[in-house]
Amino acid sequence: MSSSEAVAVELAESKVTFRFKDGVEYEAISGEGETLLDVARNNEVPVIHQCLTGSCASCICKVDEGEVGMDSDRLMSLLPSEQREGFRLTCTAYAESDCVVDLDYPSTFSEDHEASQSVITITELEWVNHNTVRIEAELADDAEMDHFESGQYVQLKVPGTEEWRSYSMSSTERELPEVTFYIRVLEDGVMSNYLRDRAAVGDELEIDGPYGVFYLREEKVPQIMIAGGTGLAPMLSMIDSLRLKNFRRKPVILAFGCSFEKDLFAQDELELRDTWMRNLDIRTCVSRPEGEWDGYNCRAQFSITQEDITDPETIAYLCGPPAMNEAAREHLESLGVKGENIHVELFETV
Ligand SMILES: Cc1cc2nc3c(=O)[nH]c(=O)nc-3n(C[C@H](O)[C@H](O)[C@H](O)COP(=O)(O)OP(=O)(O)OC[C@H]3O[C@@H](n4cnc5c(N)ncnc54)[C@H](O)[C@@H]3O)c2cc1C
Repeated sequence: MSSSEAVAVELAESKVTFRFKDGVEYEAISGEGETLLDVARNNEVPVIHQCLTGSCASCICKVDEGEVGMDSDRLMSLLPSEQREGFRLTCTAYAESDCVVDLDYPSTFSEDHEASQSVITITELEWVNHNTVRIEAELADDAEMDHFESGQYVQLKVPGTEEWRSYSMSSTERELPEVTFYIRVLEDGVMSNYLRDRAAVGDELEIDGPYGVFYLREEKVPQIMIAGGTGLAPMLSMIDSLRLKNFRRKPVILAFGCSFEKDLFAQDELELRDTWMRNLDIRTCVSRPEGEWDGYNCRAQFSITQEDITDPETIAYLCGPPAMNEAAREHLESLGVKGENIHVELFETV
């Protein structure tokens, strides 16, 4: 290497400190052109990741010190407001100076929730509205998925293709080997076309997971969940986890929103949970009702008002279309919910 090349490399190097929620820190040097995730992987730093393309948000971190740039040309699962607040996806982010980034999970998380591959067999397939399918499936005997956190997702391989898609489980680990999903069937899409045209009870799908850092956090504070459409899936799992762990004292608000009444689904499941959990307040919102509608007539986030924020440590979970997530984050922050206590799952890139 010539001396000028050596200088260039030296100048491009930055020290990256990865700080996990349990206080464990790893320091590593970022070489030229390396993403933060490259740095982590090359130095055995246990940063959670999955897609490597910016579309799953599993590798999210928050910049605490220094400059961390992001590949602005890519579509990614990060809201503009999250980027402004310093969140980055490590697979698309580059250290521009020495920096410290926070990972909002303990350093042992990836070891405790290691992904594994297996097969599920569809045992029930039900259309729960005009464009949403509920799938119940059973994991193969050899599956090692007894460790997922409510809110996490898996990847399913679309039968007859080489394509994988991500889906949040609406069931909890207590129901294993059964797993349940709510999937919106688009007019045209690889998984959507399979579900509409070919899927049947008895079909086997390869499964890979669990993945993701959208999972139930501190359980002993009030929780607000805002779901749009099939964004309800991870919330159902989280609500059931709270119920099964018997954390019933702090309020839990679920705001579930759709545009039209015909888009609603899982109303019977929600009613059951409403009966079982006295601390659960379910607000079903329709923003453009076509007939008489006696639920909330607004977008889901606007059913949450100042009086609902009774604790400064309130935790919020958002899962819906990007525009809903963005508006909901802004609304909750305006009501005093701390930015770092708002967890977001994006099903679509922005
Ligand atoms: C972490 C994660 C968890 C997810 N969990 C769920 C879940 O529980 N339930 C669920 O229904 N979906 C979920 N998704 C979305 C899912 O992975 C697929 O993107 C979606 O089902 C479309 O797949 P497809 O193969 O039918 O369409 P594709 O062939 O992938 O795409 C067809 C077209 O539709 C667009 N598109 C993709 N998703 C959407 C969408 N949601 N709305 C409108 N247009 C879209 C694509 O940009 C593309 O142009 C999740 C996504 C992520 C990243």
